[in-house]
Amino acid sequence: MPSRKLPNLPTQQSADPLLDWSTVAVSELRQRLLIWYAQQGRELPWRNSRDPYAIWISEIMLQQTQVKTVIPYYQRWLAMFPTVADLAAASQEQVLKQWEGLGYYARARNLHRAAQQVVHDHGGQFPSTLAGAIALPGIGRTTAGGILSAAFNQPVPILDGNVKRVLARLVALERSPSRALSQLWQWSETLLDQESPRNFNQALMDLGATVCTPKQPACDRCPWIVHCRAYARAMQHELPHSDQRPPLPHKQIGVAVIWNEQRQILIDRRRQEGLLGGLWEFPGGKLEPGETVEQCIRREIQEELGIDVEVGDRLITVNHAYSHFRVTLNVHHCRHLTGEPQPLECDEVRWVTVDDLAQYPFPKANIHIIDALKQAQRRA
Ligand code: SF4
Repeated sequence: MPSRKLPNLPTQQSADPLLDWSTVAVSELRQRLLIWYAQQGRELPWRNSRDPYAIWISEIMLQQTQVKTVIPYYQRWLAMFPTVADLAAASQEQVLKQWEGLGYYARARNLHRAAQQVVHDHGGQFPSTLAGAIALPGIGRTTAGGILSAAFNQPVPILDGNVKRVLARLVALERSPSRALSQLWQWSETLLDQESPRNFNQALMDLGATVCTPKQPACDRCPWIVHCRAYARAMQHELPHSDQRPPLPHKQIGVAVIWNEQRQILIDRRRQEGLLGGLWEFPGGKLEPGETVEQCIRREIQEELGIDVEVGDRLITVNHAYSHFRVTLNVHHCRHLTGEPQPLECDEVRWVTVDDLAQYPFPKANIHIIDALKQAQRRA
């Protein structure tokens, strides 16, 4: 456990657990949380660092991904790119390869661009002001708060998903957090301990991640139980209110594993702009109404690459969910018939062997296709 100074808990407890926010004992909330953190805070690799670059990497990886998934990626990343200068000097392909499987690849592309800006515009030093930090690609207000408080102990608030949930329950927020963002920011700022912002922000994140969890909040272990309105009203399982979301659209995709006479496969690199930009993939596209998978593949391959293929057996079907839609990849072996492949709707095309595929960064859904190809190769 890293050494953390234990604050003194006030001896006088609040008599009224249902305090109005205007009169809430903010200092008591701070102290209770900091004491809890000193005893129960998580040991995480980036917590022992004051290097803004390392903390920045962890903050970006944690934006959409769970801690246990992030830890090995974080460690491999720092081994590969130990400094911001190393990251800035890397190729985009190296960067995307290190990110492969983490999803939300715009995070990696933005990290790479931001590292180049830090090197070229800031002399390799991460900006130490909020305005400077949020001017970098991929860094919003809460990420900036996480980095500045952890690296420089600056009193800058945070408001990630965990913090929104904790605060919404603490005050029994009657709207969904997305409809009360300015209030939530204000509460996060009001509560922030000015003397220990690093520990306070990390404590708040830990409270949300380990105690005030989405489904089963462990209120009996919570340092804020006496002040929590949701608990007092037995509403902790109902809060925070969620937004009504329409069901995710579902796209059927025809995907081609195109073989040539040399037993090589054709892959293409997606355009920089848009989802999964810069990643390699197996070519294909969305089924039009009334189209079969085979018809879709032949049409897409002609439109995207200007070649004719014969569609053969199904290799695998892959279901994958992105944040705003789901896809089913209907993957078929194909045989190259005529035409020289051209990058008509992508940045680059390349013939590669099954063994070569490991060198290229692919989206997670495509990794299943690669695994199926390797298995088929071992069986052959
Ligand atoms: S008492 Fe329960 S609901 Fe309230 S903040 Fe603590 S864990 Fe969350």
